[in-house]
Amino acid sequence: MPEYRAPRAEMKKLAEGIYVYLQPFVFYSSNAGLIAGEKDGVVVDSLTNQYMIEGFLGKIKEISDKPVRFLINTHPHGDHTYTNHFFTEATVICSSKCREVTLQMPEDFIERARTEVPAMSFDGAKDTPQDLVFEKSLTLYQGGREIRLVCLGPGHSPSDTYVFLPREKIVFCGDILFSGTPPLSLAGSVLGHLKQLEILAGLEAEIYVAGHGPVVGLEKVLDARDYLETVLAEARQCFDRGLSFQEAAQTIDLGKREWTSAPAFFLFAQCARAYSDFRGEEPGSPLNVNLMELIPARQGQ
Ligand SMILES: [Zn+2]
Repeated sequence: MPEYRAPRAEMKKLAEGIYVYLQPFVFYSSNAGLIAGEKDGVVVDSLTNQYMIEGFLGKIKEISDKPVRFLINTHPHGDHTYTNHFFTEATVICSSKCREVTLQMPEDFIERARTEVPAMSFDGAKDTPQDLVFEKSLTLYQGGREIRLVCLGPGHSPSDTYVFLPREKIVFCGDILFSGTPPLSLAGSVLGHLKQLEILAGLEAEIYVAGHGPVVGLEKVLDARDYLETVLAEARQCFDRGLSFQEAAQTIDLGKREWTSAPAFFLFAQCARAYSDFRGEEPGSPLNVNLMELIPARQGQ
């Protein structure tokens, strides 16, 4: 196996004291945020492995010598939580459902991920239950800065939270928003995800920080919403005609070229979850298909 190297990442300044740590978009390589105040720092999401988090912590130290007092997990996926334990002085905050899912993760999940995604390193990765939970929303104040955490329930994952800075008009979207690829609702609900994107668009922020991919503006949020609307409408027709979700994924006409050129995995995943929504199943409930098998094969696409 080739030696693992953490992807080249960049700490990008978005406004005074507000930064995003941007990693290139491959599976298990996500973005994180830093909100640096006079007394302390607030971080949005940890990363997958020790090499990534050491890179991020190094950049944080270059910006501020103040302790990171709060770490927010936007949702319970490992690429946003596995290195929580590196923030030794931080209170880790998330929605109550997010903590519940973190606690329920099977013990061998990380071991299985090592096999399923061999190109990724899981050194230093572990599930660490969060310290403080909220139901719908929670506001942190960092001096005069307001940091709003709002849980939007299931969509991308079983429980997604966004972090909004109303004065700066910046929103850390977690994985409700991907940029450069279509949205992914495999672990949540396509119907829920569509609502989440509508709410993010309604914030009319100036800067949207995607969980994966570059920072974008409102237009890309509207694009993601349109994509889900199209997938839902088309998948519903296939469902009503009695087609399987695989057949739906192969026949759906997405129209826009940038959508049709995305890896096929995205559309298969969306159709599988949309069918689950149409059957009235619980958001995030296990699907009887191993779509994860498709992911390693599509790495680097
Ligand atoms: Zn995720």
